[in-house]
Amino acid sequence: VEVGVARETAPGERRVALTPETCRKLAKAGASVRIERGAGASAGFTDADYTDAGAQVVDDGHLALGDADVVLCVQAPDAVRLSQLKEGAVLVGLLQPQADASRAEAMQARKLLAFPLERLPRTTRAQAMDVLSSQAGMAGYKAVLIAAQLAPRFFPMLTTAAGTIRPSRVLIVGAGVAGLQAVATAKRLGAQVEGFDVRPETREQIESLGGKFLDLGVSATGEGGYARQLTDEERAEQQRRLGEHLKNVDVVVCTAAVPGRPAPKIVTASMVAGMRPGSVIVDLAAETGGNCERTQPGETIESNGVVVAGPLNLASMGALHASEMYARNVYNFVALLLKDGALAFDWDDELLAKTVWPER
Ligand code: NAD
Repeated sequence: VEVGVARETAPGERRVALTPETCRKLAKAGASVRIERGAGASAGFTDADYTDAGAQVVDDGHLALGDADVVLCVQAPDAVRLSQLKEGAVLVGLLQPQADASRAEAMQARKLLAFPLERLPRTTRAQAMDVLSSQAGMAGYKAVLIAAQLAPRFFPMLTTAAGTIRPSRVLIVGAGVAGLQAVATAKRLGAQVEGFDVRPETREQIESLGGKFLDLGVSATGEGGYARQLTDEERAEQQRRLGEHLKNVDVVVCTAAVPGRPAPKIVTASMVAGMRPGSVIVDLAAETGGNCERTQPGETIESNGVVVAGPLNLASMGALHASEMYARNVYNFVALLLKDGALAFDWDDELLAKTVWPER
């Protein structure tokens, strides 16, 4: 089996889908691996690292992918690159086919066997392949560091000769994988941390990380244990309580999402107007429109002294560890497709059947 990896074509993407570690594992499983020169550079992996791990380093992306049976990527290659892939090749990555019509078309035109990893069922068996979780961890971590950087205050309490500094009050909105990592990170920086979510089981999870659960009186668990969209009444109740509370919060990190929907708008423009100058909001949900009405994806704005940041692709900011985790997830998935060094597809395995796109 020929495995190919090229440089990512999406602007600003620093991660790579193959690390020297997973390259070694693939080679051991009988694959021959080709990688484009410099593909790992922005994540901290050199061409020599890949050569040592058994890969052939080639001069351009087309050489790396043109003959590949299996193409690994973080984000989907652009349409031109997709059109150059071998017909029927396997493509594995965060492909988001429905996000871009020309991408979907290019993938279908080449009859690719595409496995958009964001479609992977989140079962216990799939945990080792769960790229959404591994990348959300990095995103939650970075979001808190950005907030700490933007805030005009310390996070920890300090007792100094110049007097006592009270700790920052940090609120984490949404306590999924990213939100819980945000709670843990803000806590490690010494802040006073609160979090809330509409799934009641997050209370215990937030508390176990040293945070305080903020009860806004709304419980909304839906299909598959995920959050469901709130009713108008529930949203009104959540907003009434939250608006009051935000007047006494220094930093808000938003991470709330509902599968398959734009990010729920939780922090309204009037709540932002009610916050004290010097407060900071970092909206990790900016990618899907933001949890805060003031968020402008990709921008940092200021409104009456409140800073609102909507950073995109936070996982890419921690490209080395994000890539290590991502590449392991990808390797574990590809291992499902390899039997005795050859490709074999067990369509009775729901991890394949539910991930493949288009649906079979
Ligand atoms: P996500 O990114 O879809 O959502 C982030 C969080 O936002 C969720 O906790 C959600 O409840 C919350 N949210 C949605 N609407 C909200 C609102 N109006 N107000 C406040 N919070 C709101 O979620 P995720 O991080 O991908 O994971 C969500 C769940 O999936 C968790 O329970 C997680 O444990 C579970 N999960 C299970 C596995 C597994 O078993 N293999 C793997 C990963 C995640």
